[in-house]
Amino acid sequence: MSEYKIDRIGGKVLRPESLMMSYGYDPQLSEGAIKCPIFQTSTFVFESAEAGKAYFEVALGLREKGPTEELGLIYSRLNNPDLEVLEDRLSLWDGAEACAVFESGMAAIATALLTFVRPGDVLLHSEPLYGGTDYLINHFLRELGVLPVGFLAGTSVRDVEESIGERIAGRRLSAVLIETPANPTNQLVDIEGVGRLARSLGDADDPPVVMVDNTFLGPLWQHPLRHGADLVLYSATKFIGGHSDVIAGACLGRAEPMAAVRTLRTFMGTTAGPWSGWLLLRSLETLKMRMTAQMKNARYVADFLSDHPRVLCVNYLGLLDEEHPMHSLYRAQCLSPGSLLSFDVEGGEAGAFRFLNALHLAKLAVSLGSTETLVEHPASMTHADVAPEQRERMGIAPSMVRLSVGVEHFEDIVADLEQALEAV
Ligand SMILES: *Cc1c(COP(=O)(O)O)cnc(C)c1O
Repeated sequence: MSEYKIDRIGGKVLRPESLMMSYGYDPQLSEGAIKCPIFQTSTFVFESAEAGKAYFEVALGLREKGPTEELGLIYSRLNNPDLEVLEDRLSLWDGAEACAVFESGMAAIATALLTFVRPGDVLLHSEPLYGGTDYLINHFLRELGVLPVGFLAGTSVRDVEESIGERIAGRRLSAVLIETPANPTNQLVDIEGVGRLARSLGDADDPPVVMVDNTFLGPLWQHPLRHGADLVLYSATKFIGGHSDVIAGACLGRAEPMAAVRTLRTFMGTTAGPWSGWLLLRSLETLKMRMTAQMKNARYVADFLSDHPRVLCVNYLGLLDEEHPMHSLYRAQCLSPGSLLSFDVEGGEAGAFRFLNALHLAKLAVSLGSTETLVEHPASMTHADVAPEQRERMGIAPSMVRLSVGVEHFEDIVADLEQALEAV
């Protein structure tokens, strides 16, 4: 293994956070620069015609890569040093064999779905999904002849099985897309259980690809590949980027399905640019610190909200008690409750709006996972496109507010929420 890909000392495997500053980057290739420079270049000069030929053979899959052969740099839509270092480092958190980064979370999701789903197939998915993903599936893919079959997050695997059997009958089940915890309700989906169910309903020789959008808890607090998922998807715009200054996405998994995803990325041109890659490299160095601070703050905020007389109910994984039907799944699948919560305030939409308009420190904006605390109103913003009766079924009421807790001092966040709740 190359010197710059050492991931253990004396047989002891180093943790991802210890490797985010160094792994996968060789300073000697860049004048000794301690940080990976931005390789703002579209194309790469081959040292010889033979080298160019060899790089293309590997890139196009015309032959297998030799045991010590490095993938040659060809053109920045295929690969780029900033992206390669970033992909190596991102893989460490999820224990993935391979990673591909994209210019947005939607680019990652769309490329992954289009890699595996064909007209006539069934795409099984949890509900609610991220609004953009929902639109892609229920408008665009449906028009292409793909049949989306949804099930509500929080439903037991047995009930999922009962509700979908007939709807799948006779068609090929080619992919499963799970979002857990669900946005904004924090309902969980059993990744292992749904994955097993899907494989039992699919073709044994050509099993469905199980994908998990892990944006909400990953890559720190949930590792879907360890629960039987084939691919993990991220909007890296959220926690991974973490500073509300870059749009990006990622897809990770075993080498085999990832090779197919990378190929389509090359030909759809959804590859991230070097500047986005560089920003994410910088963000990864503080990922664990940020996500840990946000999670600690969220626990205080959830406790404060659940005791407040004007708050009707709080959806936060850290508040699930032992008796709750999702508790054992939470313990098996999640390593922490994360930093996203939703709650209902008194007074319906008017009460929620008075609260949102009265906040000072927390910013009224969609997106999540950033250093600043963000609030939004799902029923009229992120989930405005969902039919009202569907929203009700999902538990998204006009009185609901979603909160993504940032890294500010928790007492300052609570003070802001407290004074805004006065306005309700
Ligand atoms: C934001 C988000 C996306 C889309 O990502 P972009 O980077 O905005 O394209 C997908 N899934 C989830 C869960 C998200 O929160």
